[in-house]
Amino acid sequence: MVHAPAPPPPYIHCEDLFKIYKSDDLEVVALRGLDLRVERGEMMAIVGASGSGKSTLLNILAGLDQPSAGRIRVGDRDLLTMREEDLVDYRRRDVGFIWQQTGRNLIPYLGALENIEVPMALEGVPRKVARERALALLDQVGLSSKRKNRPTELSGGEQQRVAIAVALANQPPLLLADEPTGELDSATADEVFALMERLNRETGVTVVIVTHDREITRRVDRVVAMRDGRTSTEIVRRVQFARDEGARVEEFAVVDRSGRLQIPREYLDALDIDRRARVSIEGDRVEVRPEKTQTPERDEKWRR
Ligand code: ADP
Ligand code: MG
Repeated sequence: MVHAPAPPPPYIHCEDLFKIYKSDDLEVVALRGLDLRVERGEMMAIVGASGSGKSTLLNILAGLDQPSAGRIRVGDRDLLTMREEDLVDYRRRDVGFIWQQTGRNLIPYLGALENIEVPMALEGVPRKVARERALALLDQVGLSSKRKNRPTELSGGEQQRVAIAVALANQPPLLLADEPTGELDSATADEVFALMERLNRETGVTVVIVTHDREITRRVDRVVAMRDGRTSTEIVRRVQFARDEGARVEEFAVVDRSGRLQIPREYLDALDIDRRARVSIEGDRVEVRPEKTQTPERDEKWRR
């Protein structure tokens, strides 16, 4: 008998992920059962209201913070059980990270080229090799002429482009960016995004961007929305071939392993659904109705 080969596991796989921040008298549940899959080489965006857990998720993916419970794998690493020394390796080799605050990405007293050399020095890359690679990266981000400039001598967009070069210095397979264009004007934001897009295409680096930028969410393959510490909806762009040129956009609700699904607040308000609802299967769909709805025939069916 011939079995179809199992599909390869996703590059990033989070299942029922929890993050609880505890202080003396307070617990904040920042992630509550989050599911997420990202394929290798994908370029996707995460959106969601402030406080929905986007930065928490990105910090965990970056190995900067550890989750409280659930499952999370990136490549062949298990981020939940990883030991501290492996986390250090993971942070240095496996991920590049870009913060929104341009000032946070670069060391202020070093020039652009030296900034790009730092992660390689920490990894023990020989000086000469590091210098060559830093020069090549600076060229890739279009800033060869600014090699000696310190961060304060660069514009916001230039700083973010250097930050991308720093993030990619050790050739990590994953690039994470938390609102990387949040402090930039739209033309500059566009340049920074176009650079990430090109690097994704040319090197196959997987890119996850947290963003509010409409221009970015229009241009990535997939947008996942977060709400209250979970992924709620997913927008997938499918390219149409033949006559119907252009991209078709489809929006899906995320259904997790336990069958949970988030219903937008507006829908609940519109139907006055509160705490409990009637859920039934109707042919090819599932209906969710207010508890108060009377459906005698159907209740009859269940009683039998
Ligand atoms: P977002 O990036 O979507 O705005 P965050 O991940 O920053 O959301 O925050 C999610 C929730 O976790 C918020 O309620 C926030 O106040 C809380 N939170 C984030 N970081 C911490 C922390 N270090 N300690 C306590 N609570 C935190
Ligand atoms: Mg945030």
